[in-house]
Amino acid sequence: MTRQQRPPVRFPLGLDQVHAAPAQRSAARSATPAAPAAPAAVLRPQRPLQQAAQDAARQHAPSGLGLDSVAVRARMVDRLRSGGLRCEPVLQAFSLVERHRFVDTALATQAYEDTSLPIGLQQTISKPSVVACMLALLFDGAHARDQGHLGRVLEIGTGCGYQTALLARLGRAVVSIERLKPLHDRAREHLADHRQADVRLVFGDGRLGHAPRAPYHSIISAAGGDDLPAAWLDQLAVGGRLVAPSTHPERGGQALLVVDRHEQGLTRCWHDAVNFVPLKSGTQ
Ligand code: SAH
Repeated sequence: MTRQQRPPVRFPLGLDQVHAAPAQRSAARSATPAAPAAPAAVLRPQRPLQQAAQDAARQHAPSGLGLDSVAVRARMVDRLRSGGLRCEPVLQAFSLVERHRFVDTALATQAYEDTSLPIGLQQTISKPSVVACMLALLFDGAHARDQGHLGRVLEIGTGCGYQTALLARLGRAVVSIERLKPLHDRAREHLADHRQADVRLVFGDGRLGHAPRAPYHSIISAAGGDDLPAAWLDQLAVGGRLVAPSTHPERGGQALLVVDRHEQGLTRCWHDAVNFVPLKSGTQ
C-alpha cells in the first residue's frame, strides 16, 4: 500500500491516558473514569513463578459470554476508528484477533473495553487504543509505506502474546522476546493458533535484540527504559522504524519515541507521554 492510499497516523489517541505500570495504576485510572477498578490480582504479592505457570496452564477461554462473536470485536474497531485511527491493516488485525483469549478468564468480559489489564507477574496488557496507535505508527514507516506490511518484526515484551498475534497479521516474520519464563510459556500456548506469519518466541533479555534474524524492518517495545538499547538501533534495517516508550531527555517522564533508519543515519521523533511497565535487564 502506498502513502497516497493511506492517510497519515493521527496522534494522539489519548496515549498519555494509559498503559499503566501497576504502581501507577491509580493515577492512570483517574484519567479514565470508565475503566474498571484494578483487579486485586495486580496488588497481591508476586506468586512464585512456577505456580504462576501452573495457574496459566489451567486457564481456559470462557465460552457462552458472547465474546467469540465478530460483533464484539467490530464494536472495538468502531471505537478505534471514531477515536481517529485510520490505518486499515491495523483495524483489520484488531477485528480478527480475539483479545479475550489472551487474558485471565476472570477478566475476559473486560477484554473488549479500552482498558489495560493485568496479565500476572505485575505486568499489564496495554489498552487497545495504545496498541493500535503504536502499530499505526510502525505502519507509517518507510518500509511499510512501500511494501504494505511490516516486514521482519522484532517485538520486545511478548507478555500474553496479544500484540504478537496482531503483528503476525501485519508482518512477514515476527521475533518476540520475553524475559519472564511463565509469560513466555503462556504466550506460546496462546499463540498456538496464530501462525499467519513466521513467529518465533524467544525467552531472553530483549535489550539485546535478536541478532540471528536481524536486520528488522519494524521494532516495537512494550516496556520502557531510560535509554534505547544500542542493539535495537544496530538491528534496525535501512528504511525500518522503531517505536518504543523511553524516558524523555527534557520532560523527564516516559514518552513514545519513533526512530527511523535512513541511508544517512537515524532520525528521532518524540510523541505523547505514555506510561509503560519498565524495561528490565536479564531473565527470570
Ligand atoms: N504486548 C504485551 C504487553 C506486555 S507488558 C502483550 O500484548 O501482552 C511488557 C512486557 O515486557 C512484560 O511481559 C515484561 O516482562 C516484558 N519485558 C520487560 N523488560 C524486558 C526485556 N528486557 N526483555 C524482554 N521482555 C521484557
